[in-house]
Amino acid sequence: MTRLTNARLPDGRRVDLTLQNGRIAAITPHTAPPHTAPPNTAHPSDTDLAGALLLPGLVEGHVHLDKTLMGQAWRPNAPAPSVPGRVAYERAHRAELGPVRPRAMALLARMIAAGTTALRTHTDIDDKSGLANFHGTLEVAQAMRAILPIQIVAFPQSGILTHAAIPDLLDAALAEGADLVGGLDPATFDGDAKAHLDIVFGLAAKHGKGIDIHLHDRDPGGNAQLRDIAARSQAAGMQGHVTVSHAFSLGTTDEADFARTADALAKGGVAILTAAPGPGPMPPIKPLRAHGVTIAGGNDNIRDLWSPFGTGDMLERAWMIAQRQGFRADDDLALAYETCSTAGARMMNLPIPALEPGAPATFLALQAETLAEAITERPRDRQVWIAGVRQ
Ligand SMILES: [Zn+2]
Repeated sequence: MTRLTNARLPDGRRVDLTLQNGRIAAITPHTAPPHTAPPNTAHPSDTDLAGALLLPGLVEGHVHLDKTLMGQAWRPNAPAPSVPGRVAYERAHRAELGPVRPRAMALLARMIAAGTTALRTHTDIDDKSGLANFHGTLEVAQAMRAILPIQIVAFPQSGILTHAAIPDLLDAALAEGADLVGGLDPATFDGDAKAHLDIVFGLAAKHGKGIDIHLHDRDPGGNAQLRDIAARSQAAGMQGHVTVSHAFSLGTTDEADFARTADALAKGGVAILTAAPGPGPMPPIKPLRAHGVTIAGGNDNIRDLWSPFGTGDMLERAWMIAQRQGFRADDDLALAYETCSTAGARMMNLPIPALEPGAPATFLALQAETLAEAITERPRDRQVWIAGVRQ
């Protein structure tokens, strides 16, 4: 049993917590020890949090552990103007990065220290590197299993129809333990959305696994693909097990097209993942939620051949989401946090982080007065517990 004293909850209450068997066993009003008592005589193992704010664990909904350069010397980014250009650059230079494990572990250490308590990672699988990155990522996930859940997406970074070997490689990865099958711009990268999605949904059905598709298209064709994916999800009974990452086309100004697409996503049980991208449209958080669509957040590329940015901090990502969505009110900032916490857990079908008795003891503590201040300040000094264990 662990006792944490003098913590502040997001609603302002000062409380003491008892943790037992990985869960929050009790939350009681904080009682200060008498001034005359020697410190910690009643409970020698008590940890005094000195009024630190507790927040539910952060959830990283979309990252690429196998791509990161974390832990290595700084490497200047070589920007390419398009997705195919970046894919080609990465294919040419991926072998220079070395094995996945030390890079992924360096990034994971930073992610966990910043409060990430669960994550989904997309791992490159293509005709050039085969299953090497997948095997490296699987090794990392297994090594970290006792600490935090890591879901692996078998991600066809070079497309699926571009080489005859790729469907079989995805099939093998799913057989060996990948949790989901991925996809990449079915219409514009592979040029045949039907054939691409037939393979993705076929593999998911064969292995009983989920789906998480990268969709970068910004034009109305992007929303048409979203409706197609939603219809397939509904037909396959896969509601709650399909995600589309990025889905920039949902940032359309065509309200009727948006409403039609959001309704289809809700009906098909398809979640949306956003990284609050730079210039260009992004899926709108509040309108999607109003239509009943789960929208979660992720860092996506962190210091790799695609991007020089990223620290692994999901609180920073919540700040970016709030900035991009024009959020200023405390309730809206709380929504940005939820996008990077409970919504991610919902998307991943994990227990929902909550600061209440019976919930997993998975949270972070930092010096801020309120949740809104935590997002605007993003204090670097954090204490993190996952399933009752201090990290
Ligand atoms: Zn990605």
